[in-house]
Amino acid sequence: MTSLFSIVETLDGLAREVAGEEGVKVVKLLAQKSSMTDEELAQKTELNLNKIRKVLYRLYDARLATYRRVRDSETGWFVYYWQLEKNKIYEFASRKTRLVIKVLKQRLNFEENNVFFECGNESCRRLNFDEAFDVGFTCQNCGAPLTQIDNSQIIEALKKEIRKLEKSLEEK
Ligand SMILES: [Zn+2]
Repeated sequence: MTSLFSIVETLDGLAREVAGEEGVKVVKLLAQKSSMTDEELAQKTELNLNKIRKVLYRLYDARLATYRRVRDSETGWFVYYWQLEKNKIYEFASRKTRLVIKVLKQRLNFEENNVFFECGNESCRRLNFDEAFDVGFTCQNCGAPLTQIDNSQIIEALKKEIRKLEKSLEEK
């Protein structure tokens, strides 16, 4: 299973994309239970039933949620029990995680293969060797001299994040 944090983050983002803030509310509730009816969802979110149904159909359309239809033996009406499509969500989350790993590795490669310079002023930007050389090792923003900086902490942080994400994929 992908780490809980990234799943929650992904779920919120997905739900928002598909069905707005109301989608986020509904998905949060569905994530806590195995299934819920549209009426239960309307009660808990204090949204009206029509609104809830619209949200649910959007989630269904995006294959994030599915339902089971059961006939109520007393009323003869159908009751819809909604649940999240967990496999789809995990699949989406791991695809996203792999993409993030790829971007972080590119960044790591850039950090490991460059030396960087800065003036020490918070509001000025960091330059790589070619950029610093071009400006004669003088900050173009504040005029202070540029000195080489140690980026080993950035490299360590990137490696740690990559390891964490790769581990979360293995655990799935
Ligand atoms: Zn500067």
